[in-house]
Amino acid sequence: TDSIDAAGADRNASLFARAQRVIPGGVNSPVRAFRAVGGTPRFVARAQGPYFWDANGQRYIDYIGSWGPMILGHGHPAVLEAVQKAARDGFSFGAPTEREIELAEEILAHLPSMEMLRLVSSGTEAGMSALRLARGATGRSKILKFEGCYHGHADALLVKAGSGLATFGNPTSAGVPPEVVQHTLVLPYNDVAQLEQAFAEHGKELACVILEPIAGNMNFVRASIPFMRRCRELCTQYGALLIIDEVMTGFRVALGGAQSLYAQAIPGFAPDLTVLGKVIGGGMPLAAFGGKRAVMEQLAPLGPVYQAGTLSGNPVATACGLATLREIAKPGFYDALAQRTRSLVEGLEAAAARHGVPFAADCEGGMFGFFLLPELPQNYQQVMHSDGARFNRLFHGLLDRGVYIAPALYEAGFVSAAHSEDDIAQTLAAAEAVFASLR
Ligand code: PLP
Repeated sequence: TDSIDAAGADRNASLFARAQRVIPGGVNSPVRAFRAVGGTPRFVARAQGPYFWDANGQRYIDYIGSWGPMILGHGHPAVLEAVQKAARDGFSFGAPTEREIELAEEILAHLPSMEMLRLVSSGTEAGMSALRLARGATGRSKILKFEGCYHGHADALLVKAGSGLATFGNPTSAGVPPEVVQHTLVLPYNDVAQLEQAFAEHGKELACVILEPIAGNMNFVRASIPFMRRCRELCTQYGALLIIDEVMTGFRVALGGAQSLYAQAIPGFAPDLTVLGKVIGGGMPLAAFGGKRAVMEQLAPLGPVYQAGTLSGNPVATACGLATLREIAKPGFYDALAQRTRSLVEGLEAAAARHGVPFAADCEGGMFGFFLLPELPQNYQQVMHSDGARFNRLFHGLLDRGVYIAPALYEAGFVSAAHSEDDIAQTLAAAEAVFASLR
């Protein structure tokens, strides 16, 4: 099923073979290797707007967009110009620049829960730093996370397993000693009763609760309003910090992030700390964490919590992020993006229904997810019921027709402002053919 170039050679396959000799699995981040879906990863040669072209010159409509950052599509002229200008002025200084302030001000203007932030280079770094800050600020060690939520690959957060109440950290990666995750408590997502019980037992020892507001790392599962409300109330009651990980949802589902949507439903709702990444860098390595001034001022050089970075606030990355944020802050941006995303999701639902394929989908702003299940799951256990073999046939069917979705069942999808109605129509035509074959 892999495409072949004009000369009959599959360059993706030859690059993959070459890559596997020098890079473990041939990739620098595991999901890129197509291990779950099988076949040959596409090596990207270039990208423009909603498309990328692989090493064989094959074009794909891109619904990953670098796993979220490329909300304007690839090669947006204003962003490209800002990056080129910044690069001419110097790549990295290890000294402060005015643009870091501008970017911080731009982000804070849209996220009223945040009074201060610090820039870092990856979502992992931001999550790890927010965690240290929460522990340092509260003087407590335990943390609470939820099954199916991914917060980067820092040891203490790389814990997924855990059934039943108050399961203490089973690392899901080798190389994480049990002692390192002994303070990590993992509960099922969206389970208010278990949340309350965990707080009753451990609330006074908890430094923080961290969660994805829309869990994009189990495809697309929303935190229910009652669940989010109880997270906030219990954190306040017990003096733990509520950390919302908006690495994926921040500036993706709405200009004010997912927290703005929960604030509409829950009066006064605000997290204590927010973790950001992806869109705020516009495709360059950039992330941030921030929140209340009193908490943020615990960071070095003001306070006792140490955190640093050679490339933090990198001038080229901040230029890319700032130019991106200025485009998406323009009036009407999210309405148009959400409408485009909704037309994709509704079209997929209709096509699946016509062919009798169980299918449930959801979307918010420019983020979407779908399951080959009769209804939307609420937690990781339910997500696990998805039909993996069928998903793989769907994935390859779309890939063969020039549509690139995440090569894994448990990942969200992303639409950019560059996707046109025509791109959506082409995608739906491809999906129609694939669903017919999935019956
Ligand atoms: N948090 C969430 C919600 C994410 O989706 C991701 C990455 O996918 C991360 C944290 C980690 O970010 P990074 O891959 O930039 O380290």
